[in-house]
Amino acid sequence: MKTRTNIVALATALLVAGCATQAPGFNYTVPAQPEGASGYTEKPGWATRKFAVAAANPLATDAGYQILKAGGSAIDAAIAVQMVLALVEPQSSGIGGGAFLLHYNGKDVEAFDGRETAPAAADEKLFLLPDGKPMAFYDGVVGGRSVGVPGAVRMLEMAHRQYGKLPWSTLFQPAITLAEGGFKVSARLNTLVTADAHLKKDPVAAAYFFKSDGAPRDVGVSLRNPAFAEVLRKIAAEGSRGLHEGEVAQAIVAKVQGHPTNPGKMTLADLANYQPKKRVPICHDYKASGHDYRICGMPPPSSGAIAVGQILGILNNTNAATLPLADGVASPAGKVPSAEWLHLYTEAARLAFADRAQYLGDPDFVQPPSGNWMSLLDPGYLAQRARMIGAQSMRLARPGTPGATQVSYAPMPDQPEYGTSHISIVDDAGNAIAMTTTIEDQFGARQMVGKAGVSGGFLLNNELTDFSFAPTDAEGKPVANRVQPGKRPRSSMAPTLVFDKGSGQLVMSGGSPGGALIIHYTAKTLYGTLNWGMNAQQAINLPNFGSNNGPTLLEERRFPSATAEALRARGHEVREQNMTSGLQAIQKTPSGYFGGADPRREGVVLGD
Ligand code: GLU
Repeated sequence: MKTRTNIVALATALLVAGCATQAPGFNYTVPAQPEGASGYTEKPGWATRKFAVAAANPLATDAGYQILKAGGSAIDAAIAVQMVLALVEPQSSGIGGGAFLLHYNGKDVEAFDGRETAPAAADEKLFLLPDGKPMAFYDGVVGGRSVGVPGAVRMLEMAHRQYGKLPWSTLFQPAITLAEGGFKVSARLNTLVTADAHLKKDPVAAAYFFKSDGAPRDVGVSLRNPAFAEVLRKIAAEGSRGLHEGEVAQAIVAKVQGHPTNPGKMTLADLANYQPKKRVPICHDYKASGHDYRICGMPPPSSGAIAVGQILGILNNTNAATLPLADGVASPAGKVPSAEWLHLYTEAARLAFADRAQYLGDPDFVQPPSGNWMSLLDPGYLAQRARMIGAQSMRLARPGTPGATQVSYAPMPDQPEYGTSHISIVDDAGNAIAMTTTIEDQFGARQMVGKAGVSGGFLLNNELTDFSFAPTDAEGKPVANRVQPGKRPRSSMAPTLVFDKGSGQLVMSGGSPGGALIIHYTAKTLYGTLNWGMNAQQAINLPNFGSNNGPTLLEERRFPSATAEALRARGHEVREQNMTSGLQAIQKTPSGYFGGADPRREGVVLGD
């Protein structure tokens, strides 16, 4: 088996060498592919000395590791990881989706925005029925209607022009090799294919993800994706134009516009004109355990960094930091946050989510309150918000009025979101990235772009369902995050880089999938490491919790029953449910780095 995969790797490497520049010293080796488990699998945490890469799938992590080992930069490794994720974790992210990337170059933090855009022909009626009412969520998701113009590849190209060390084409070798030689279907991929009601309706996806008898492909079988390999070869050779123009672009448009029941409006011009953007990151000070940190995250169109920053900032105006952890249920929970702390956290979260619904949207279309997004993180404003927290739950928080100038949007109702993948990398020069990448829902719009007579392809996102389906409230007041042509939908993704405020040194890179719950998963990991002194793995392992300004959510079977009872006594409507985060984080340590990966998913960390 080992010999065969090596031969496949060698043959493919030679093929790649024929049409793409080989980086000296880089020859991708297909690793052994153990079968991952789904559910909750304890992870050890990984210490490294010089560099580290953390991603949601072992093959993706390994591709990043091999690139770093060959002298690649953190950006180079991120590109290789993303391409392999698109193949082995297609339910979460890929070339048909979008991403946000924070990069630290040893001096400055830059934010790269590869968020999808609404086609030029889309308008605020996109998700409305003829009677003017919003359609059911999945009626919007499945088909061409929800597909935004993809941005991940163009964004990575932009970052690579600035920070790439290895040739662009080299970074596609791992994914091309695995797509042509085959990769083992993971337990998680199998589980999600089995559970999905919509994937089978797309003939290309049906032929790829299911056997001829209609059952999902089994865990551990080798799956090849030659159609995807062809597209990767084009992008490797031509850059993002290989995706945004020419025959691949034509295939995307045909898929979106040609959907039999739910077509979309994307055109070739939308694809050709897509522009990634560099934005100023949101950075704010944070004090924990007497130490001053600076936390940087993605600005709008993501709501992630602002909401995480608001929650942490509001908590710092309460006595949360003085509260001890409580006893958890049996291992692996260990110590868990106490009911009193959870009360403060979820109240802070309610306040943050009320502002998020009111104010957050694409900054190219939406005015920030008082002309500046930082008004939402103003220490005086957060102190004022914290004063609204009492002994009993407020249950439903109202948005505040940060700064002097009011903006008048209607709040956006809560909508479901799932999927996504997070990558953290530090290279041996100390450059770091935090990148969260998504096709929105699991398997996105359930539309696979293929090629006649060739098996496989790649999935298109449903990112436009991150817009508010309803463009206005009942009085006709517009929602900030309504659909408009060329606009980016509001996100919750929160790739985060933490620094020591005094020295400016990197402290941590991290982030998570999980829709709006990303905000809580990320805040939990920051609190666990910075306030409770946990290592990244321990903080990730902590049970999940949160509130999106509705019920108080607790990860099921992870808290003692007394926790829910104590919260109910304070007026919380408690729901215990599955909360599958997919956190990855890398911390700087005195001897190098320490990485953690979420026990709820298949991620691992590698490094030297
Ligand atoms: N589309 C979501 C966002 O950008 C992420 C979806 C998820 O993580 O499941 O916020």
